[in-house]
Amino acid sequence: MKNRKKLGLAAWIFIAMVAGILVGLCFLGKPELTTQYIKPIGTIFINLLKFIVVPIVLLSLICGMISMKDIKKVGAIGWKTIVYYMITTLIAIVIGLAVANIFKGAFPLLDTTGAEYTANSSNFMDTIVNIFPSNLWAPLVNATMLQVIVIALFIGAGILLVGEKAQPMVTVVESAYEVFMKIMMLIIKCSPIGVFCLMVNVVAVNGPAIVGSLAIVLGVAYLGYILHMFIVYSVAVKSIAGMNPVTFFKNMIPAIIFAFTSTSSVATLPLTKECSDKMGANPEYSSFILPLGATINMDGTAIYMGVATIFIATCYGVTLNLSQMLAVVLTATLASIGTAGVSGAGMIMLAMVLEAVGLPVEGIALIYGVDKIFDMGRTTLNIVGDASCAVVVSKIEEKRSARKKAA
Ligand code: ASP
Repeated sequence: MKNRKKLGLAAWIFIAMVAGILVGLCFLGKPELTTQYIKPIGTIFINLLKFIVVPIVLLSLICGMISMKDIKKVGAIGWKTIVYYMITTLIAIVIGLAVANIFKGAFPLLDTTGAEYTANSSNFMDTIVNIFPSNLWAPLVNATMLQVIVIALFIGAGILLVGEKAQPMVTVVESAYEVFMKIMMLIIKCSPIGVFCLMVNVVAVNGPAIVGSLAIVLGVAYLGYILHMFIVYSVAVKSIAGMNPVTFFKNMIPAIIFAFTSTSSVATLPLTKECSDKMGANPEYSSFILPLGATINMDGTAIYMGVATIFIATCYGVTLNLSQMLAVVLTATLASIGTAGVSGAGMIMLAMVLEAVGLPVEGIALIYGVDKIFDMGRTTLNIVGDASCAVVVSKIEEKRSARKKAA
């Protein structure tokens, strides 16, 4: 029943996307009409994305920190899991930025006269200095995302250090997180309307060629997904777990199909666990590694953020320099950790990355219409990454206890 409902939303989003393209074509030559009457409804959705991003980032990261106390409990495998997740996510964002930079010549430069943008152009040291807030509220009010992240990490660390006495705060934070997640889900539920309105306007204003550009940026993201999947995970399972990558991917097929269609790592969790355990992951470990992965490990989302950021920057005529790219690496890594494993969440966190490097969040309107297609690929990669970690860490532990026994 639940799945049918989910597929229902996906189907509506696709219908909205196609209808948006067709209606947009009807308005070619008279974009003022769509800009005046249809775009404002889409703008409401973009505003809602901006509105939800600060509480979601703040609360999800504090909750993530709070869950670290379980990591201490699970001991060695906790840290190995975190290190594996961090390294693969960093590789993912680098792959995303690399493929997008290689193909950025094929991305369009849109007519954005009247709205000139330059990305935040501080040097690397300034970027580091600027992530530390001098005020508690200003970053929340101005959505200065790197500072919001630092605030979240401090509050999380404070809660962990205080221990028992911080329990009321834990309850408040966890309950507030639930509430804002619900609000986020409501916004996502209304997304077919937003997709339709933004698509109509994007096509009417930029002409049919934009549909081709969207196909190109989707292709670039999928190239990144495929490279990461078949290079990084194959190397990891082969070299560390000694498993034939073909066996690994074959065993993952049921979970892959479910993730691709449901676009939710959390909903796919039972299948991810079944597939991982079947191919030899220790069930006890995987019941810690996989739920944690569905919450914090989002390699597909990281690739998508790299590609989407470069695409939007190019459309607005902005070229990112090396230190701005580093800021993207930093924020996208943290944003992917903060992304909830539910459909469409990655796009909301993209708002945070754009905000952090000073690119127009409105740029999301360009790719909002096809987000579902991005999401199908990124969710698939997200869960395959979690499963590869379960297999790899189980193997490392197995070897370690064998060595211990032998000694
Ligand atoms: N849908 C993705 C997932 O559940 C998250 C995202 O939107 O990037 O893994």
